[in-house]
Amino acid sequence: MNRKFMSVYDKYESVIGLECHIQLLTKTKMYSSDVAEYGALPNTNVSVVTLGHPGTLPVVNARAVEFAVKLGIAVNADIREENQFARKNYFYADLPKGYQITQDKTPICNGGYIIAKLKDGITKKINLTRIHMEEDAGKSLHDIDPFETLIDLNRAGTPLLEIVTEPEFRSGEEAYAYLTEVRKLVRYLDICDGNMEEGSLRCDANISVMLKGSKEFGKKVEVKNMNSFRNVQRAIDFEIKRQIDLIEASEPIAGETRSFDAVKGLTFSLRSKENANDYRYFPEPDLQPVFITQEYINKIKAIMPVLPDELFNKYTKEYKLGEYDALQLMDLKEVAAYYNKLVTFTSNYKSAANWVMGPIKAYLNERALTISEFTLEPQKIAEIISLIDEGKISNAAASQSIFPELMKSQIKTAQQIAKELDLLQNSNSNELQDLVNEALAKFPEKITEYKNGKVGLLGLFVGEVMKLSKGKADPKLLNQIVKETLEK
Ligand code: ADP
Ligand code: MG
Repeated sequence: MNRKFMSVYDKYESVIGLECHIQLLTKTKMYSSDVAEYGALPNTNVSVVTLGHPGTLPVVNARAVEFAVKLGIAVNADIREENQFARKNYFYADLPKGYQITQDKTPICNGGYIIAKLKDGITKKINLTRIHMEEDAGKSLHDIDPFETLIDLNRAGTPLLEIVTEPEFRSGEEAYAYLTEVRKLVRYLDICDGNMEEGSLRCDANISVMLKGSKEFGKKVEVKNMNSFRNVQRAIDFEIKRQIDLIEASEPIAGETRSFDAVKGLTFSLRSKENANDYRYFPEPDLQPVFITQEYINKIKAIMPVLPDELFNKYTKEYKLGEYDALQLMDLKEVAAYYNKLVTFTSNYKSAANWVMGPIKAYLNERALTISEFTLEPQKIAEIISLIDEGKISNAAASQSIFPELMKSQIKTAQQIAKELDLLQNSNSNELQDLVNEALAKFPEKITEYKNGKVGLLGLFVGEVMKLSKGKADPKLLNQIVKETLEK
């Protein structure tokens, strides 16, 4: 990059707001008892309610409301008491009713925030505008038949929460970090599987640029169809540059919706917003408002699971784990759950973390298993850790021999296996002292050199004793005894 090139982009500041849709893990749809599941045979979970036939009536899914409240509590939002539903009217082939039942002026949550973790321990508080409940449309499949678009209405009516942020992101990287937290949060709350590839977490990005320090935002462009967090980041960064280039060339920025081409790494225009749809929102006449009482909120508060931020604080502050380790452990809540169980049996938090992310993770990866399929009781791992801490087995013996053997015969204890494999270290100091004396007797001159300041010779002595012990001496104790003996 030359200097001129740098300075053009440095004149501008970007403004980004994200709209995320999360598909809820309810058994049934938002306003009907149709099953809501991914991957069913096309058009099998579609009743007359989903199709909006005359005379049918929608009913609000209470579990979806509960999930919305859970998320609201988790992000410290204000939860609305009187929730109305609204019809958003538009025509599309995969929208069988001709309208979507959503929330317009009365979103269930207002405000709240999510803390995004950027590089080097830096965080950014992302304020949320609102979260509202709505239903999904069906799916148009363009890539199955070469000539026709196919329609699968199974997804029509599936419950969604839409999370809208304030325009507070400044880069693709910040958006990426935020999305990572959103996914973690909804997974910990057990309200969405967070799977972006299957479309259960979708994100639209609104992007504009303005001269640095300007009070007025530029015209925003909406980008859709990004199927991974990385692509959201790429799309945003591409779009920022594209808009600056336009402004620099004195060309206008069109208010439009664009799509991201992940292969070419660029955005392209889908439709103009100049003559945007008028959705003609009006209150849904077939649904009574849903009232959420403080008592109900308190009930949900009482059954809230531990949240990622709490866990992160516990790991880093109480357990003194590094941030990287903490984030690795927490990434999947099932892994964190195993770790949490493990540390009820040992207080060597660091070692416990190393075991979960080292040998256990490697074992699972090699076999393409998940932690839920890991059958070894955490007590057994805790026992290995304490055997190491007591100097009875070495780290290497524990991870390379004892752990694999334990996985084969899980009824045995680590101590039994260590004995059977003859891996118990010699940590009896009397016996060790004899070996030390024997070893030192071989090097009278070297001892003099050591005493004259050539302390690097310590390794030689220790190595000799280790040889005599056939590798079974506890290295820590051995070091100590050799030093003491030399200083006598
Ligand atoms: P619309 O009426 O087009 O839906 P909203 O005001 O509801 O727009 O905002 C939608 C999203 O766009 C929000 O996440 C908001 O933060 C973001 N946003 C609004 N204005 C801008 C802007 N000028 N630049 C970037 N993002 C913006
Ligand atoms: Mg809007």
